[in-house]
Amino acid sequence: MSSPPTRMAVVGAGLMGSEIAQVAAAAGCEVVLADVSQKLVDRGLARVREIGDRRVARGRWTAEQAEEVATRVQGTTDLDEAGASGCSVAIEAVTERMEVKRAIFRGLDEVLDEEAMLASNTSGLSITELGRATARPAQVVGLHFFNPASVMRLVEVVRGEDTAEATVERAAMLAETLGKTPVRVRECPGFLVNRILVRALCAAYRAAQASGAPRAVVDVAVVAGGPAPMGPFELGDLIGLDTLEHIRRDLAAAYGDRFDDAGVVGAHVSAGRLGRKSGAGFRAGVDAGETEAGDDGAAAEQFYAAAADEARRCLQEGVVASADDANVAMRLGCGWEHGPLGAEAAAER
Ligand code: NAD
Repeated sequence: MSSPPTRMAVVGAGLMGSEIAQVAAAAGCEVVLADVSQKLVDRGLARVREIGDRRVARGRWTAEQAEEVATRVQGTTDLDEAGASGCSVAIEAVTERMEVKRAIFRGLDEVLDEEAMLASNTSGLSITELGRATARPAQVVGLHFFNPASVMRLVEVVRGEDTAEATVERAAMLAETLGKTPVRVRECPGFLVNRILVRALCAAYRAAQASGAPRAVVDVAVVAGGPAPMGPFELGDLIGLDTLEHIRRDLAAAYGDRFDDAGVVGAHVSAGRLGRKSGAGFRAGVDAGETEAGDDGAAAEQFYAAAADEARRCLQEGVVASADDANVAMRLGCGWEHGPLGAEAAAER
């Protein structure tokens, strides 16, 4: 296996950026971690240390190892000054707003060496559009890590319209050297995993709305009836219903009615019930952890049928090259025991 780049820039020291920096440093890479204020940079650096400390406490790392990894991450509020020009790769993980990201890409394009690859951890913004903010669109790619990036093995490598095949391969190899499993995805709204997952969630919410089944019952039925480790209502609370509604709306605008959830998520957001983070949501603050008698096999069936249908569409549209890719992505990105096209993929072999 090839070795990781010797030096990398990570822009945005929030939840994702700090974890990505940690992953890169743990793989032996020198990382420059940038954010807009020293306070935010320090919070990101503290997060890198926290992950190391946890590993030490669990006996997985020695204290020396954790220290070595932490010192490989250098924080800055000025990438140029911190030596971004020596970085062969930059991963952007700032707030999910196109104009903010475009400005970052323009800046990175100016300060990074000509051969450097520019990657975005965006969950759904256009890689093509980000690439066109630079003079090197062929070297711009999506590297979509999953939360928490220090643990989750999947990275969607997203190819924009202008991304060169060599860049896709370079990004996939980078993901591997960071200990991750890359799945190559052609750019489309929602990319692969969020598209399949949110489609399935919408189907379950619609079915539950129609049947009137208690949410806890639906959650139990989905877990019992297939590979997902968590039911759709509990998962919605975990993701955050405002975040979910934002993604769902974008997908509904792109793909239409199959991303209709009968208004279920939006009603909760309007009422300020955002899931676990707000202490109230579908089940959070209501009946989380409880089980109720009943059966809603229909909602579970629709959940898995929708996931399989969306995965098939991705395959037909060339978003992924194989059913196996879709299966691996759902296993490693969502913790499913097997993918939505499991049986079909086996039959194909
Ligand atoms: P976050 O809010 O925790 O962190 C974003 C950071 O970017 C903040 O610290 C902010 O100060 C910084 N930032 C904003 N403008 C900046 C600038 N001009 N220069 C440098 N830093 C700047 O957000 P997050 O959850 O880490 O998400 C970051 C990206 O990762 C988004 O594109 C998001 O869609 C994507 N993502 C998030 C998740 C998730 O579960 N949170 C999963 C996969 C991908």
